[in-house]
Amino acid sequence: MRGWVIAGAVVLLAGLLAAQEPVAPPAAQAVTFVADTSQVPHLQPWGRAAEALCVVWYPRLVDILASDDTVGFQPTIRIIFEKEMKGVAYSGGNEIHIAASWVEAHPHDFGMVVHELTHQVQRYPPNGEGWLVEGIADYVRQRHFEPDVAVPAIDFARAKPTDAYKTTAGLLIWIEANAAPGIVKKLNRALREQTDTAAVFSASTGKTVAELWAAFARASGYAGPLAAP
Ligand SMILES: [Zn+2]
Repeated sequence: MRGWVIAGAVVLLAGLLAAQEPVAPPAAQAVTFVADTSQVPHLQPWGRAAEALCVVWYPRLVDILASDDTVGFQPTIRIIFEKEMKGVAYSGGNEIHIAASWVEAHPHDFGMVVHELTHQVQRYPPNGEGWLVEGIADYVRQRHFEPDVAVPAIDFARAKPTDAYKTTAGLLIWIEANAAPGIVKKLNRALREQTDTAAVFSASTGKTVAELWAAFARASGYAGPLAAP
């Protein structure tokens, strides 16, 4: 039964990839993706599908972020499926590690792979802005890979723009659509070059992150008090 679910998810992804527009000549360099399912052989078809997904989406992510792909380039990226790992997935060096138990429970979650692949394109030097790093990865996933999936509602009474992941992604999607198209590319550059990201928000929109968050909340129909930053 589990095998059929995995196989069904893989077939769905193959159809999705085939139906998408061909990519314009990429600025990205050619990367070889190698899925390692040696710990969990029954996930080999899913691993192969993840490889194919990464081949198609890597140049797209370079383009979406307007990222200089020569900086810290890794010619081979390994996707390692971990039998004992808790949690979901993480990315480091030229490796993406994915918990087998997560894939078994969420066989359609290829968006998770795109999130981790975004980290492989970001390759930022160490910075204190994890909220933005994770927010951009979920922005890419939600806005570009899963644009038809409903964005989770934000509880503005409690949430903050620096909550990372889907919350920060929601703010970035709203800013891109309503205030400053192209801001994510500028943020990517600032994070790469270790320059001030607050200055990117203010120069692009004339507002601080807190002011943008308040405008986003109002535009989303929330009229109550916002959580203190
Ligand atoms: Zn992440």
